Amino acid sequence: MPTPLSMLLAERIRRAGPLTVADYMQAALGHPEHGYYRTRDPLGAAGDFVTAPEISQIFGELIGLWIADCWDGMGRPDPLRIVELGPGRGTLMADVLRTLKVVPELAADPWLVETSPVLREAQRQRVAARWADTLADVPAGPMILIANEFLDALPIRQFVRDGGGWRERLVTVSADGGALEWTLGAPVGREAAGLPAALEAARDGDVAETCPDALALAAEVAARLARGGGAALFIDYGTTASRPGDSLQAVRAHQYQDPLAAPGDADLTAHVDFAALADAARAAGAAVHGPAPQSLFLEALGVFGRAQALKRRATAAQAREIDLAVHRLTAPDQMGSLFKAIALADPSMPPPAGFAS
Ligand code: SAH
Repeated sequence: MPTPLSMLLAERIRRAGPLTVADYMQAALGHPEHGYYRTRDPLGAAGDFVTAPEISQIFGELIGLWIADCWDGMGRPDPLRIVELGPGRGTLMADVLRTLKVVPELAADPWLVETSPVLREAQRQRVAARWADTLADVPAGPMILIANEFLDALPIRQFVRDGGGWRERLVTVSADGGALEWTLGAPVGREAAGLPAALEAARDGDVAETCPDALALAAEVAARLARGGGAALFIDYGTTASRPGDSLQAVRAHQYQDPLAAPGDADLTAHVDFAALADAARAAGAAVHGPAPQSLFLEALGVFGRAQALKRRATAAQAREIDLAVHRLTAPDQMGSLFKAIALADPSMPPPAGFAS
């Protein structure tokens, strides 16, 4: 069954030629009328996927403590601007702000960067904040920035190794005009494709990915931190080193599906290349800490102690739920090792908590 958006995209391809994966992702997630994030709240058991802040309040509490520690290292700005990119239902920011109440001297000035009207409404129910469409709309100055499962939603480009060069993976329409399908563009060199040198060793047929928006964002955030002070924490799934692999995935109702099957009705994501992100941030003047596996990051911030403390006041059923949630966040076969935390920081401040030196 074609979706309204797949019909619009087929028409656009017939008129103007194949789309890059980035154009396709951009439309599938962000099309003003039919984009996945513009039309629904995708989170939770009844939705398409579940994220760490929705699994346990402990996640947001630990990030709140991480923020308080950074605030101290920044020389205690008053107020402290806290910016979240892609806040989903607002759960993480709500847990952070509640936790920061234990530090009465810290006055938080929260900003939420969100493009989805549906999710903005959900956030409004949970937090008093200010909203912006992009980071550029948030005033300059010292800040702490947080983003959980935001980078994976930014559009990627894909290239397939072919002989000595690369060909971009594109989306076109089938000869009978009915379905979206893959094709390849003209050969390009590695540098023209924007691929890191580490991918020189790729073999024929390997797929490599770039995320120009993520690199531009890392540079923008790094430049703001170097100029105005502060730190940024990104948590997402991905790889520590740049390496080949097709990580584009579509998820609907907790099931994987063909990424071309239902644009606008399925979430589309890709793994984050943390090495490329770190390089872009360093080049723009930030210090980089991590990436650290989510398990080690949360452990360093005291996840097990916090779970113990909560269990002391819990019923037996609640205690089992807490154990299960902590397991999901930290076990290597759950979110513990695929998910990673990376911090970008003003190089003149002490290293943020959670990253072994
Ligand atoms: N951080 C939340 C939600 C993750 S889902 C959590 O952990 O639960 C991705 C979020 O990013 C959603 O809020 C989505 O609407 C938002 N988003 C996606 N693309 C965006 C963009 N280009 N600009 C701003 N927000 C975006």
